[in-house]
Amino acid sequence: MSTQFNPTHYKHISSHPHCEVKQNLANEQNGLFTTTSFSKGEVIIVFDSSKIVDTPNYLTVQISEQKHIHLSPEYLQYINHSCEPNVLFNTTTMELECLTDIAIGDELSFFYPATEWKMSQQFACHCGKPSCVGLIQGASEIPNEVLKKYKLTDFISAMAKKYNALLLLF
Ligand SMILES: [Zn+2]
Repeated sequence: MSTQFNPTHYKHISSHPHCEVKQNLANEQNGLFTTTSFSKGEVIIVFDSSKIVDTPNYLTVQISEQKHIHLSPEYLQYINHSCEPNVLFNTTTMELECLTDIAIGDELSFFYPATEWKMSQQFACHCGKPSCVGLIQGASEIPNEVLKKYKLTDFISAMAKKYNALLLLF
């Protein structure tokens, strides 16, 4: 669902440095919104893992083939997917990095396949952006010409490179 047109239809949930969690009353989905503006390339926060697990779930971010982290601080889990993302969880530097300029009140979003090689559950995206990919799956299932348009984590870039090199062998 596109959510940006009716800012009054949000309920404030919690406040955090430079951002706040708000709930969209139409679909009860929580999202993370800025309370400060940022420029492209800036770091919003340095994140950490509260727990490392070996299988992905809807809350985890992948950091290596067998390692998926639960985000700390925990409110970062409310950053939703978008096919036109404005942040990246850079799992090399552990920085939440701005991919675009971000205005006060913007919802933060990231491109799930930019960090996930395989996802626990695929889903149909309704971000409403012109470049919407539609079915969101791990990067292993996303065509290379789509992946190329996105900034990916070093881990996903390396996996995609390795995978494409393998494909060329057959
Ligand atoms: Zn989309």
